[in-house]
Amino acid sequence: MSNKTKLKDNKELLYQVVLSYKVSHNYPLKAFLIECKNKLNECIDMIWNNIKYTKKDNPKLPKSNEFKRELRNKLLENWNYASHYIDGIIKTSYSILQSWASNYKRGYRTKTKPIAKRLFVRVKTTLIKYDKEKGEIRITIKPRKDYLILNIKNEWFFDKVKNLTIGEIILKEKETFLTFKDNLNYSDKGMIVGVDSNLRSLDLFHPIEGWTRVDLTELHRIKEVYDRKIDFLKKLLKKFPLRAMRKINRLFERRRNRVKDFLHKLTIQLSRLFPDAIFVFEDLNKRRMYKSKYFNRKIDRVNWNGLIEKISYKTIVILVNPAYTSTICPICGSRMESQEGQVVYCSNCLNSFNRQLVGCYNIFKRGLGNIKEIMGGSGVTTTGVEVSFGKLMTPNPNVIYIVDYNGKYFNEIA
Ligand SMILES: [Zn+2]
Repeated sequence: MSNKTKLKDNKELLYQVVLSYKVSHNYPLKAFLIECKNKLNECIDMIWNNIKYTKKDNPKLPKSNEFKRELRNKLLENWNYASHYIDGIIKTSYSILQSWASNYKRGYRTKTKPIAKRLFVRVKTTLIKYDKEKGEIRITIKPRKDYLILNIKNEWFFDKVKNLTIGEIILKEKETFLTFKDNLNYSDKGMIVGVDSNLRSLDLFHPIEGWTRVDLTELHRIKEVYDRKIDFLKKLLKKFPLRAMRKINRLFERRRNRVKDFLHKLTIQLSRLFPDAIFVFEDLNKRRMYKSKYFNRKIDRVNWNGLIEKISYKTIVILVNPAYTSTICPICGSRMESQEGQVVYCSNCLNSFNRQLVGCYNIFKRGLGNIKEIMGGSGVTTTGVEVSFGKLMTPNPNVIYIVDYNGKYFNEIA
């Protein structure tokens, strides 16, 4: 949930961390939450009935402003609570159906309408008042009539958040999830690390440590194991549609959880490896990257975005344009040619390099350029602008790490 600020040249800078905390309450919310759930299902219903299918059976959700206006008006009928809740409910419905649609397209879901069962509602910041002095959070349920008041002055985290800006809140029957936004300061950070995502590794360039690799074979293995099982079950879909589908869904959930767990540990251990660093990643959301030959060598885009988001909760993350990062010569800047294996060769300055080292080095360099620009060309405290030649000529990573499932830090394997 990091905020993005548009800078000049459309460069995006992630500059906030979001902290979230759970606080219990004993306010009678059940009736309200049930009405929210009913409205959510009503909303899903209306969108569902207006989904159009293309010739290839791809579902398209209704997106026109006219439809949305009508939807909102319809949902506001017989609604006695603040109208902003309806906006949140509409947003939630769209994201539920969007994820159904993308799963349906890939053959992972049937044409059955998703139904919301849990009792919860998102509270937009327009409905929240935060009194920092008193440590009091006031949530509007019904305007001018009904408020939920939380006092967090005695909560263990109050000192950490008392001067921060409050973000969205999730209300449940017995508890609330609070979020706070914290601005990060560039001058707190001393180092820049460039990260290149490959199918089986993250390759990092650190100006002092040089080329460091985090091996992702395990992540790849987890996915392959589940994909093989799922592919097998897909063949049984014609014969036993219900049973096979149920099993496929269960496998997908397990796959998702295993991957999530891996990425969670990867994030934590990565930020512990370089606690002082600003991380520079490629912006893989550039549309033309999708489905290209180049993209196949990269890790799954969904995982990648999830990883970037998680790291951005912990430190500053910068996204840079990924074009040509693995083929520009780090010494003279010419376009290089691919050679056998992982080698790229510069016919201008006659040097050869490892492709993955070049990738993370160029990402590092672009990130450095962006930061200089953001800071107005002065006051850059980040060290490591001078990178020694030797760090670029090594054929192998200086260190290779793997995620430690039981520990706090990566394990060194080479
Ligand atoms: Zn060169």
